[in-house]
Amino acid sequence: MRRDVKVCVVGKVVRLNSQKVLVLNRILFEYCNLVKWYLTFGSTSKNFLHETGYEKAKRLFNLKTGLIQTARDKAVEILKSFKKTGKRNRVQKIERISIRFDSRTYSFSKTINVLTPYWLSLSLNGKSRTSLPIMFGEKQKLKIDKAFNGDWKFATVEIMKKNSAWYAHFTLTKTIEFNEHPETIIAIDRGEKNLAVAVAILKDSPNKPLKGQFWRGSEIKRTKGLYGHIRRNLGEKKLPKKIKDMRNKEQRKNNQQLHITVNQIIEYAKQFPNSVIVMETLTGIRNIFKASKKLNKRFHSLPFRKLQTIIEYKASLEGMEVRYLTRRQTKNTSKQCHRCGYVTQIKCKRELKCPNCGLKYNRDLNACVNIAHRIMSSVGWGNCDTPELSNEANPQRIS
Ligand SMILES: [Zn+2]
Repeated sequence: MRRDVKVCVVGKVVRLNSQKVLVLNRILFEYCNLVKWYLTFGSTSKNFLHETGYEKAKRLFNLKTGLIQTARDKAVEILKSFKKTGKRNRVQKIERISIRFDSRTYSFSKTINVLTPYWLSLSLNGKSRTSLPIMFGEKQKLKIDKAFNGDWKFATVEIMKKNSAWYAHFTLTKTIEFNEHPETIIAIDRGEKNLAVAVAILKDSPNKPLKGQFWRGSEIKRTKGLYGHIRRNLGEKKLPKKIKDMRNKEQRKNNQQLHITVNQIIEYAKQFPNSVIVMETLTGIRNIFKASKKLNKRFHSLPFRKLQTIIEYKASLEGMEVRYLTRRQTKNTSKQCHRCGYVTQIKCKRELKCPNCGLKYNRDLNACVNIAHRIMSSVGWGNCDTPELSNEANPQRIS
């Protein structure tokens, strides 16, 4: 199965003279107005907007036709996201509009220039083109060079203004082939105590889970506690700007930590042949947390969604597919004994003690094994029948 993956690389526009700044500001202003104008139609149909608006937009706005089309697409995306989030971020979204260039309106080349080898040439209006030197950080440079080597393809570039500096966001794409016949299932359980726990199960021996790995997420929890404390102090002194800065800083730290965690998860998965990663749906996990108000609050504060996005992204780069259990399949993953299938309500700290077959197992690892067993049939391994009270069951082991 093939799937397109995207990656975004950000560079800073440097050496802007006043004339270029003037041009960029004017184009951004015009482009924002055009997006807002398209929004007034209140339609998410690109065809409709094209038929009713395109000719008029060409007369009303002094922009390249390529830009008129991306402005229309942007309006559609914004409107769709309003519908999803219930117009929550309306003002914010419109204020942060960036100018999108596609292959018709930009070219990007690598030169032997001393300042920076990367030059972006934009076609803004009329026949003139504007060249902008772009600087990248070390990691970003590696990514962008992969596109020049042909590993990735250049898609669009967004020009964005932030605190009077200008940035270019390049979207690169690549088609990745996923293996349709996985030989290993990597089950990942996410929770409050351990941010993530992974267990590998091989096709030949689905009942013998391999050594798992734990990520406690202590750094993220520590950052959370620390910044929460600082924020409360600042809040009392009424310093909203400082609070916002803090939140950004906290987010940056957390993102960094999440990336480190996910890199380790992917390394774990890469030890095994042809892995597919399996997780529960987030709504499924949420149900578990609903039980207690306090836990529910904690659930919302842990970055599970973000963790999931990064896992999906990094896994796809390795050609690993990520699958999810349905909400129904998620039921009782943490309460059911993976060996005999017995569902126990007895909570014994971090351990699951099965009163039926006597199994003693780490609770999170047990949940992982259940997650893996439940996805087996849909990855073509056949059903994993829960053994009827197996011979291994030994009542003496119940303590
Ligand atoms: Zn059991």
